[in-house]
Amino acid sequence: MQRIIKPKAVLSRRKPIILCRQSLSTLSQQSHSSTSIQENDAFVSQMPPFDYTPPPYSGPSTEEILRKRQQYLSPAICHFYKKPLNLVDGKMQYLFDEKGRRYLDAFGGIATVCCGHCHPDVVDAIVNQTKRLQHSTVLYLNHAIADFAEALASKLPGDLKVVFFTNSGTEANELAMLLARLYTGYHDIISLRNSYHGNAAGTMGATAQSNYKFNVMQTGVHHALNPDQYRGIFGSDGPKYAKDVEDLITYGTCGCVAGFIAEAIQGVGGILELAPGYLPAVYSTIRKAGGLCIADEVQSGFARIGSHFWGFEGHGVVPDIVTMAKGIGNGIPIGAVVTTPEIANVLTRRNYFNTFGGNPMCTAGGLAVLRVIEKEKLQQNAFTVGSYLKERLTSLKGKHEIIGDVRGRGLMLGVELVQDRELKTPAKVETAHLMDEMKELGVLIGKGGFFGNVFRITPPLCFKKEDADYLVDVMDFVMSKM
Ligand code: PMP
Repeated sequence: MQRIIKPKAVLSRRKPIILCRQSLSTLSQQSHSSTSIQENDAFVSQMPPFDYTPPPYSGPSTEEILRKRQQYLSPAICHFYKKPLNLVDGKMQYLFDEKGRRYLDAFGGIATVCCGHCHPDVVDAIVNQTKRLQHSTVLYLNHAIADFAEALASKLPGDLKVVFFTNSGTEANELAMLLARLYTGYHDIISLRNSYHGNAAGTMGATAQSNYKFNVMQTGVHHALNPDQYRGIFGSDGPKYAKDVEDLITYGTCGCVAGFIAEAIQGVGGILELAPGYLPAVYSTIRKAGGLCIADEVQSGFARIGSHFWGFEGHGVVPDIVTMAKGIGNGIPIGAVVTTPEIANVLTRRNYFNTFGGNPMCTAGGLAVLRVIEKEKLQQNAFTVGSYLKERLTSLKGKHEIIGDVRGRGLMLGVELVQDRELKTPAKVETAHLMDEMKELGVLIGKGGFFGNVFRITPPLCFKKEDADYLVDVMDFVMSKM
C-alpha cells in the first residue's frame, strides 16, 4: 500500500489574483464545463492570454474515438489521465481539445515539438515541398535532403559531417550500433542502466529498464552503473561511476568493445543528468578498448537544454556518432545519424537502404525547424525560461515535502516525487493524481522515471516566462490540495 502525502493546510500565493470557478473557464478563452475544482476552491494565476481560436471541431466524439481505439488499435497503447484527452488543434505552446479548451503544453509530444505546434514556417515548408514532390527515394537527386544534411552537419563539431536520415530514434540508434560494430569489428556495446534507446532488436538490448524489455533475444549489450546524482551510490562523483565501465570491459568482454551509447540527460528514465566528469572518463576508457562513443541526442538535442545545442556539449566531450530524432522535425517522423566520413564508409561494404529516410517532405520540414530555432533564438529562450522555471520549481521544494528533487537543464526539467525524502520512496500514485489535477487546470506535463514518479517538463522551446509561472502556480495549487 502506498501512503498518500498529507494535505498542506496553507497555500501561500505568489500572485494575489483570486479566480472563482466561473472565471476559470475564461482561462481558455473558450468555455469548458468539467473541472475538478470545487465551487469554493480558489485558484490563483491565469493562463497567459493567447490570440488564437481554433476552428470548430466537427469530428467524432471522444467516446467514439476511444471505442475505435480500443477495438482497432493495439491493446498495448495506453493513455494519460483518467478521462483521456482528445486533442484536435495545436498552436505554438498550446493545445486545444474538441471543445476548444486551451491547454498549456509542457510535454511537447514527448520533447518533440521544439519550434511550437504547427509553426507556420515549418508547415509552409512541408506543404510547399509536398505540392512539388513528396517522395522519390535517395535513388534520385533532390535538393531537400542535401540542403538539410549540410545545415545539420554545420551544427556538429569536428569531423562529424556525414548524415544518414532515418524515420525514428530507434532506427537511428540501430544504425549507430551497426556502424560501431562494423567499424571496430567488435560486438559488445555498453549502455547505462535506466536508459531508453528504442524498441527494435538491438536497441531494446541497449535500453535498460525492465518495463521496456520483452523476453526476447538481446545480445551483446552490458549495462553499466547509472551515474544518477539523486539515487546513485556515488552521488555526483562521475569518475567513480566510470570505473564500472572499466570493470565491465575487463570482466564481461574480450577486452575490446564496439562502443558505448548514452543520453547526456536520460529522458524516459526521469530527466537524469549524468554526473559531471562521467562522460569524459568513460569516453577515454571506451576508446582505449577500441570502441566508439555514441551520443543519443534524441531528447537532449536541438537546443532543448539551453546552455548548448547538444547534450554532449554540456559534458565537454565529442562523440564519434550522434543520433537524433524528436526535436529534429518538430513532429515530422524523421531521425538522423551523424558521424565521420571514415566511420560512414563502412556501410559501403554492402547496401544500406531506407525507403523513407531523407524523404523530401521530411527534410524540407527539418531544414525549416533548424532555421526557426536560429531565427527565433530558441536555444537562448530555452536557457532563460528554463533557468527561471527551474528556480521556481526549486522554490516549491521548500514548500512541498513530496518534491524530492528538481533537476535538468533548459527546457528539459524533471521533478521527482517521493513519499519520504530520506527513503526516497517513489510517489507513483500521487504523481498520476497530480498530473490529472493539473490537466483539469489546463496544464499538460509528462511523467517518467523507472518508477513513474517523475514529472517530465519538456515544452516547446517557445515557452514563455508567463507560461512557466502558470505551470508552477498550478503545480503549487494541486500539491497544496493533496
Ligand atoms: N532514444 C531516446 C533517448 C528516446 O527518448 C527515444 C524515444 N523515447 C528513442 C531513442 C527512440 O525514439 P523513437 O520512439 O522515435 O523510436
